[in-house]
Amino acid sequence: MPAHLLQEEEFSSSSSTTAVGTVTSRVTSNGNAVTEKDLLNHDDVAVQRGMMDDIFDGTYKQKEGPRPPLRYVWRNIILMSLLHLGALFALTLIPSAKIETLAWTVLCFMVSALGITAGAHRLWSHRTYKATLPLRVFLTIANSMAFQNDIYEWARDHRVHHKFSETDADPHNAMRGFFFSHIGWLLVRKHPDVIEKGQKLDLSDLKADKVVMFQRRYYKPSVVLLCFTMPAVVPWYFWDESIIISFFIPVILRYATGLNTTWLVNSAAHMFGNRPYDQNINPRENPLVSLGAMGEGFHNYHHTFPYDYSTSEFGWRFNPTTAFIDLMCFLGLASDRKKVSKEVILARKMRTGDGSHKSG
Ligand SMILES: [Zn+2]
Ligand SMILES: [Zn+2]
Repeated sequence: MPAHLLQEEEFSSSSSTTAVGTVTSRVTSNGNAVTEKDLLNHDDVAVQRGMMDDIFDGTYKQKEGPRPPLRYVWRNIILMSLLHLGALFALTLIPSAKIETLAWTVLCFMVSALGITAGAHRLWSHRTYKATLPLRVFLTIANSMAFQNDIYEWARDHRVHHKFSETDADPHNAMRGFFFSHIGWLLVRKHPDVIEKGQKLDLSDLKADKVVMFQRRYYKPSVVLLCFTMPAVVPWYFWDESIIISFFIPVILRYATGLNTTWLVNSAAHMFGNRPYDQNINPRENPLVSLGAMGEGFHNYHHTFPYDYSTSEFGWRFNPTTAFIDLMCFLGLASDRKKVSKEVILARKMRTGDGSHKSG
C-alpha cells in the first residue's frame, strides 16, 4: 500500500509565543504516523528574527596545515591572574562577611548573569524574543555589570561561534582543548579566520538598536561604575561592611564566578554530557553547567535550535533565565518568544540524536 505524505505546518503565531518548524510525516498502511524528517525553515525563522547568522554554516572549511603561532596578550594574562588570585583571597573573607553582604553578592551575581543570558545571549545574539525599551535598558545595565565585552562585541563573537562552531573561525574553538575554550582564547590574539568571518556577519540589527550602540560608546565608564564601584559602595554605605570585604566579595569574587560560569558553557558544555538532539555536533547537555549558568547548559539543544528562547525543551527546570523572560512577558515588557514545537524536537531526536533521551 503506498503511503501518502502528510505535511504539518507548525508556524502558528499567538500573542507572545511563536512555534517554529515543520514536520513531514509518513502515514503507514496500518495508520501509524512515522516521522521522517523535521524541516526547520531557517529563512522563515530568519524573517521573524531579522537575522540568521547564528545558523551553522557547513560550507566553511578551515585551512590545512599548522595554525599561525600564538601571540600572547600579556595585559589580559596579568589581569586575569590578578583577578583569580583576588577571588581566592575573597574566599578567605567569607566567614567575616555580614549576611547582608553575602545576600547582596548573590543578587549582583544573578542580575549580572541575566545581562549575559537573557540579554547578550538570548535577546541580542539570537533574537529569540522581543524586549521593550525599559527591559533593554535594564539588561544593558546588567550587562555592563557583568563586564564580558559590550553587547555588540559579545553578540558578534557568539554568532560566529554558532555559525562556524568547532573550527578555526570559532573564537573559543573547543577542538583546541578545555583550557583554550574556557579562558585561553582571551589570553591570545584571535585566529585570523575569526576576525575575517566576524567582519562578514550581518550585524545590522545590533547597529539599529540605540541602546546597544549607546552602551558600546560609553562601555568603559559604565563598567567602572556598574561592575566595580556600585556593588562595593552599597554594602559599605548601607550596612557598614568593611571596604575590603565590600570590594573583594561582591566585586572580585562575584565577577570571577560570573566569568567562569559563562566560560563553562564554552568548555565543559562542549565536552561533557549527552547529545540527545544531534550526535554529530560537539555541544552537550550538561545539567551542572545549567545550574551555575542560569539555564545555559542545555547546549546540544541550543546549538541544534539556536532560535528557541528557552535554550531547552524543559521550561523552567534548571533554567531561571527562561523563568525571567516568561515573567517579563507576563509584565508586558517582552513578547514574541520563539519556541520549537514538541513534535519537531521529537522528530529531530529520532533522526540525529544519540538515543539518550529514552533513558530519561
Ligand atoms: Zn548561543
Ligand atoms: Zn556553544
